Amino acid sequence: MAWDIDKKIYKKIKKYKNIVIARHIGPDPDAIASQIALRDSIRLTFPQKKVLAVGAGVSKFKKFGLLDKSDFSDMKDALLIITDVPTMERVDGIEDLQYKEIIKIDHHPCDQKVATIELVDESASSTCQIITEMLFKTNLMMDQQVAGNLFLGIVSDSDRFLISYTSVKTFQIITKLLERSKIDFVNLYEKLYERPINEIKFHGYLAQNLQFQESGLAYIKISPEVLKEFGVDTATPSNMINDFNYIKDVLVWTFITYDEKNEQYKVNIRSRGPIINEIASRYHGGGHKFASGARTSEKEDIENLLKDLDQACQEYKKVNE
Ligand code: AMP
Repeated sequence: MAWDIDKKIYKKIKKYKNIVIARHIGPDPDAIASQIALRDSIRLTFPQKKVLAVGAGVSKFKKFGLLDKSDFSDMKDALLIITDVPTMERVDGIEDLQYKEIIKIDHHPCDQKVATIELVDESASSTCQIITEMLFKTNLMMDQQVAGNLFLGIVSDSDRFLISYTSVKTFQIITKLLERSKIDFVNLYEKLYERPINEIKFHGYLAQNLQFQESGLAYIKISPEVLKEFGVDTATPSNMINDFNYIKDVLVWTFITYDEKNEQYKVNIRSRGPIINEIASRYHGGGHKFASGARTSEKEDIENLLKDLDQACQEYKKVNE
């Protein structure tokens, strides 16, 4: 089945002269790497096509390659490919685009159909894993740059193969990717993991100030003043949330960061037990069963979210202890 979908996507890519690839707002490495790798692969395979990867740039992800401006003046009737995003509301940078058709490539759970063709595999570790497989199954080309980005997207979203979405298939795809591309993967880690000293200090602040509840919930509210004090931005906590996995007695942990610019709370939630995406969806959020996020401008939502997470931990403990 997935084989057919890969082929169908290839046929659509072949057909369209103009292609725009977009991903979710507030991108993570899998979102950025998936759109840039797919863009570069299509450019390699079909040099005559105009292919753009759009959305707001993030300076720390520049090492994956540069994004394109959302200048769609000569991009009429384009094919829009959305990667790593389940619904249209969270797609970044396509406000002025007149597209003819949409293809979705994603690994988030979603009941809503938004595209003509949907290549969605909830069991995949990352969108980059799905795209790597698609490249293997079609004539889409891969050079070392494309392979490197796909590798980093998989490594990042699986949190170095720690997260439960990592499967035998993930390792099979990684093996094939490394065998075929011969990328120097150890040297690529710097692109993902090198960070400035102030971030290390901020990491220490998070560890010192995380609040631990009896239920197994851990949380921290991060104010704009603290972000300023450490010289970090609202995206920084998101990049650190996975580092707080495997704390004994902690089942669910969450960072609540106040985003002064957008006047809303940005919430990262992770779990190693209770299912959290259903809870996140009550507060303008969503995501995966054990890795979710939300955004809300209501302080009350935050208090209720914490209560719900606390409750979910208690219920999980009752059943599992
Ligand atoms: P994050 O904590 O930002 O890394 O997000 C974890 C997961 O939740 C990712 O798969 C996101 O796409 C998803 N997510 C984060 N924020 C939201 C939101 N406001 N609405 C829906 N999904 C979200």
